Amino acid sequence: MKAARLHAYESQGWHPKAGDHPLVTEDVPEPQVMGHHDVIVRIAGAGLCRTDLHIIEGIWKDITRPALPYTLGHENAGYVEEVGDAVTVVRRGDAVICHPLATCGYCEACRRGEDMYCSDSYFPGLTGDGGFAEYLRTSDRAMVKLAEGIDPIDLAPYADAGITAYRAAKKAARVLRPGQWAAVIGVGGLGHIGLQCLHVLSPANVIAVDASESARELARTLGAEAVVEGSQNVEEVKERTGGGCQVVLDFVGELGAEAHSIQMLRQGGTHIVVGYGGTTRVPTIDIIFSEIAIAGSLVGSYTDLSELMKLNQEGRVQLHAQRYRLDDINQAIADLDQRKIRGRGVLVPA
Ligand SMILES: [Zn+2]
Ligand SMILES: [Zn+2]
Repeated sequence: MKAARLHAYESQGWHPKAGDHPLVTEDVPEPQVMGHHDVIVRIAGAGLCRTDLHIIEGIWKDITRPALPYTLGHENAGYVEEVGDAVTVVRRGDAVICHPLATCGYCEACRRGEDMYCSDSYFPGLTGDGGFAEYLRTSDRAMVKLAEGIDPIDLAPYADAGITAYRAAKKAARVLRPGQWAAVIGVGGLGHIGLQCLHVLSPANVIAVDASESARELARTLGAEAVVEGSQNVEEVKERTGGGCQVVLDFVGELGAEAHSIQMLRQGGTHIVVGYGGTTRVPTIDIIFSEIAIAGSLVGSYTDLSELMKLNQEGRVQLHAQRYRLDDINQAIADLDQRKIRGRGVLVPA
């Protein structure tokens, strides 16, 4: 089968140049059922994520330790092709979206429903072969069956971008009250979903911040109560929100946004870090005086994904996907890096 694989890391801070081929599209053997709970999924679409760029840069290599070469792609949706002998939840032909982590189901974290803390899991696309290919091997615990008539192709990014934004919005909604403001920093693949989830889950107003005009346009279309150009405009955000935001969801986390976004908080506010790559430095006196809280948000649980699929089915959250052929993956990577993709890029193997 065809797969887009990483053979060698670039260096940290790498940006694709014209003619770069960070991933190699080549023929590899199809994955096989190895365990009783394995599921082979025929990929319909696989979302392209900034994490893929960070993987190529090598910042994940000492954490996930994959053997090179391997196939990237951790936002996967498609059709069940083959199942292990203990699989009962899906059958060949079912349309599915895959929770990104293949979890054990038995550890304490799994029992609590905290899938991302599973102590015995694997992460297709990070720790081993992912979905930038015709077929993917994962487990039955990752299967979320799609409702009748839902096409999996454009849904794929919900598998990671979607649930990550949804989980962050859920955390925000716990503290947001009517009349308050939540800032969405970066209206890209995650931010545009985060914005919609905030509107569904909380009564607060949303101020969207992005340097790109097409992203700001998307934010307006999605009903953001205020839109600001670029995270450096901290004072403008404070002015538009009457003194600052109760919650800032930073979907960028690098390139300066990690410093600006904290300054947009008002006293007692919560900073939720979703995008990454930079370093957050806050003087301790500022933390106590402003009594802010800094929280991380890591992907999302299986239930987050199934809840999000309900919202999608009801039309209350919509994903903007831009399709690319798998053969054009390096173009898609360059477009993502140059912020030319509106919403989320999706690779289609067929
Ligand atoms: Zn991702
Ligand atoms: Zn587990």
